[in-house]
Amino acid sequence: MLILINFKKYGGKFVSTEFKYDNRRKSNSYNKYSKGKKNYGGPSYKPSQGKGASESFKGGNKNFKYSKNYRKKPYQKQFKPIKNKPSVKIAFLGGLNEIGKNITMIECENDIILVDCGMAFPDGDMLGVDLVIPDFTYIEQNQDKIRGIVLTHGHEDHIGGLPFLLGRVNIPIYGTALTLGLVGNKLKEHSLYNESSLNRVNAGETIKLGCMSVEFIHVNHSIPDAVAFAIRTPAGTIVHTGDFKIDCTPITGDMIDLSAFARVGDEGVLALLAESTNAERPGYTQTERTVSDSFDNLFRRAEHDRIIIATFASNVNRVQQIINCAEKYGRKVAFSGRSMVNYMAVASELDYLSVPENILIDLDMLDRYPREQIVLVTTGSQGEPMSALSRMAYSDHRKVMVGEGDFIIISANPIPGNEKTVGNVVDELLKKGCKVVYESMYEVHVSGHACQEELKIIHKLVKPKYFIPVHGEQKHLRKHADLAMFLGMDRKDIYIGDVGSCIEINENYMKELPAVPAGKVFVDGLGVGDVGSIVLRDRKHLGQDGLIIIVASLDVYDGHVISGPDIVSRGFVYVRESEGLLDEVRQVANNILEDCADNNIHEWGIIKNRIKDDVSKLISQKTRRTPMILPILQEV
Ligand SMILES: [Zn+2]
Ligand SMILES: [Zn+2]
Repeated sequence: MLILINFKKYGGKFVSTEFKYDNRRKSNSYNKYSKGKKNYGGPSYKPSQGKGASESFKGGNKNFKYSKNYRKKPYQKQFKPIKNKPSVKIAFLGGLNEIGKNITMIECENDIILVDCGMAFPDGDMLGVDLVIPDFTYIEQNQDKIRGIVLTHGHEDHIGGLPFLLGRVNIPIYGTALTLGLVGNKLKEHSLYNESSLNRVNAGETIKLGCMSVEFIHVNHSIPDAVAFAIRTPAGTIVHTGDFKIDCTPITGDMIDLSAFARVGDEGVLALLAESTNAERPGYTQTERTVSDSFDNLFRRAEHDRIIIATFASNVNRVQQIINCAEKYGRKVAFSGRSMVNYMAVASELDYLSVPENILIDLDMLDRYPREQIVLVTTGSQGEPMSALSRMAYSDHRKVMVGEGDFIIISANPIPGNEKTVGNVVDELLKKGCKVVYESMYEVHVSGHACQEELKIIHKLVKPKYFIPVHGEQKHLRKHADLAMFLGMDRKDIYIGDVGSCIEINENYMKELPAVPAGKVFVDGLGVGDVGSIVLRDRKHLGQDGLIIIVASLDVYDGHVISGPDIVSRGFVYVRESEGLLDEVRQVANNILEDCADNNIHEWGIIKNRIKDDVSKLISQKTRRTPMILPILQEV
């Protein structure tokens, strides 16, 4: 059902399932294409295959032809004007001037690869919208050229749009183990798992996609298994950092592979695309390990209380620290919230979470242990209305009642825009007698994104000819551009784009091309793209001032009123107390209808507009409100 709706919106006339089938068959040829390469791809990723499923990728970049000079000569000298050398086109379908729905298209010769495919959460004014995904029109227009989609990491703003894209175009996916595990779960929910091609790549490996190759470079971030990309194209190398920070003491895995950035930088880099989330913040982002010390202190302070910690479900390392601390203080751990349970299942299956035996308990077993032996790890750190923590705060959780004797830690920062909802949840918890600790009180959260000094390190190692700040709002992109100029780059070599921007770069120039189709597509329940700005405007209007419906039956011959007009209102005034006003509305509508009939005005558009105008005037005079007015006429 969902898919049919997609096609209606995007494929115009293609509304049959056959289209879907053909479409997929066509895209299967991508897989064949890639299988033609030596040992390419291997079997589709399944979590049970364990590590090493893609050993064959190792050394894949040997096929890559660069002249020796290209590698050895100092960076600046490599970019001699050479005629007929190909250019690379980069189109930004999301992630610029916004936080969320990151997706970048890189095109060279006859091949295209996509980097990430995220979603965004709706703004407050997108009433009733569940999530926002990129506009995939341009991808569909170019689907024959697309060789694959490479994923930097498993956060929603990088993978959340995938099920909606794969429902229309089947593109092979390449990512690290944890990223693919999370994507796999998503695709299962959308019944797309079996026909999808998920190919695991380990950090340090290189894959070939058409005329381009992609080297996966390990980085630190607030989710394990994140990577950056060195994308080698016939026009030159493009480095895309993905989301990253430099953490010398990460909880799991190694420190970011700075030597790989340096090596790629020494080879020569045409363009750097680097994330800008924390470009305004000076200094370095703290290591994730600082949170351990804070947890340790707080666990000691909690003494006889039950501990409840809210954090992002994707922050596997944070949960690991909670589990470590629980073990030290002899507490059992339970997970609450669907996404928390799902993430932890994937993470522990793939060995990204190490859980000591007998420490995990089911939510149903909470009552069997004394409070001081429990740690509850829950979703809801952003105050999301349906999340586990919110339900606890508003006494709406089926299994957990909170109150005195609960020590609650919110181990996250409110994402801008969520401060108010988080504040409300904290207030409710405090009213119930809980102790509540959040980030501004203790170091119970650190960012997953690089601050200025870390960004400088990457710029200096990569030494790009051109720079394009990505992953941020305008202020972040500008600040990041300033930072690049501070490091010595020329303003003309920096490009600040927008959603839909497209640029062409080669060794001689960087120029802006006409914008490509791009934007926001709203997902509301099962509907994808069927809620547009007009529907949103109506919802807003209804939400603010309510609705008045005026129903009347008119004589089919002379237009006089046969029954009604009846007035129905919703969300406008309390009807019993406003009968006088609604009577007046009825009178005004009736007068207009009779007047129109007397004057032989039978054009319903005109009649309805007169009713809307006069009733609005009346209501605005009496109440200073502007409800939506909806006349419904019928002939009998
Ligand atoms: Zn991220
Ligand atoms: Zn991100």
